[in-house]
Amino acid sequence: MKQGSLRPARKELEDLIPYDAKEVKADMRLAANESPLNMPEELKERIANHLGQFQFNRYPDATAPRLRALIAEANGLDPDNVLIGNGGDELLMNMFLTWGGAGRKFVDFPPTFSMYENYAKITGTEVVSIPRDENFEIDQEATRKRLAQGDIDLVILANPNNPSGNLTDEAFLLELLGCTDALVCIDEAYFEFSRTTVRPYLDRYPNLVILRTFSKAFSLAALRVGYILADTRVIREFLKVRQPYSVSAFSQWAAQVVYRDRAMFENSIEELIRGRTRIIEGLSAIDGVEVFPSDANYVMFRIAHASIVWRDLFYNYSIQIRDFSRAPLLEGCLRVTVGTESEDAAFVAAVREIVEREEARNV
Ligand code: PMP
Repeated sequence: MKQGSLRPARKELEDLIPYDAKEVKADMRLAANESPLNMPEELKERIANHLGQFQFNRYPDATAPRLRALIAEANGLDPDNVLIGNGGDELLMNMFLTWGGAGRKFVDFPPTFSMYENYAKITGTEVVSIPRDENFEIDQEATRKRLAQGDIDLVILANPNNPSGNLTDEAFLLELLGCTDALVCIDEAYFEFSRTTVRPYLDRYPNLVILRTFSKAFSLAALRVGYILADTRVIREFLKVRQPYSVSAFSQWAAQVVYRDRAMFENSIEELIRGRTRIIEGLSAIDGVEVFPSDANYVMFRIAHASIVWRDLFYNYSIQIRDFSRAPLLEGCLRVTVGTESEDAAFVAAVREIVEREEARNV
């Protein structure tokens, strides 16, 4: 071996692009589907008061038993049906480490959360893509046919979908769960805004795993906490692949405080749902903007010269949204996260101004 050389990394990583979490921040950050509101003061204080006795020198409880028990109880389940992760992201990766892998197949419904495909590639899992139609609905017939071949190991369906925001029909979800023995993850990261869940069906379908997160409605994106609800047999496999101490003790503690008092978030969730309606109505009233319905805390829309609009918003208004306009099946699409009432109003006014300026230039 020649000194000063480096052999290539795994071949599967060759075409992978690192997740682009833009570190440059605008004044109004409406790009990552976080909550625009920090935690309620009362909860912040409760967490701060505990800091003095916090044992920073000890490893965390590996499986976050207290948080698990709280979530289980609220969902009428056993703690063995719950697993906590370092954000939903870690649990998604675990899904590929358990039910994916080399020689195994994963069904994806693009355009959707792009990390599913990334985790498939990282773990050498074959991706079977079943594209959504022009309204971002699942191609039900193609899905039925593909699953009938009996060789699929893992299916993940975001409900509501990200970035489009739409929900999939419950009857179809149940049909999907019943017609395959693949592990089927219904990703309910935005459940608190859609208020729609397949949780009542966990008993009936041992292949169902539901993914949730504290990053959105519960203002805890910084601490990285997510969880799954599933059959004990599924949880047991996940326990084999997870990193032992992936969820920090501080995150576990803060998530417990938040979850116990989750009723405190109810008003802000309702306010964000109203904000969503205001954004949809505001954008729909602008000429040439096509707005897609949403059951989440974000709204996707199609607009001419989308990348230019994105840049204008960022550089001239300090408003940061997400540009999907060059992603496959999302031509001309941008996605805005619902912010505070004033952020939403500033955003809609800015888009209107940009469009009017563009029209004036073209007259
Ligand atoms: N699923 C979907 C559909 C998402 O949009 C996100 C966040 N962007 C996640 C899962 C993961 O969220 P987190 O890791 O913050 O829990």
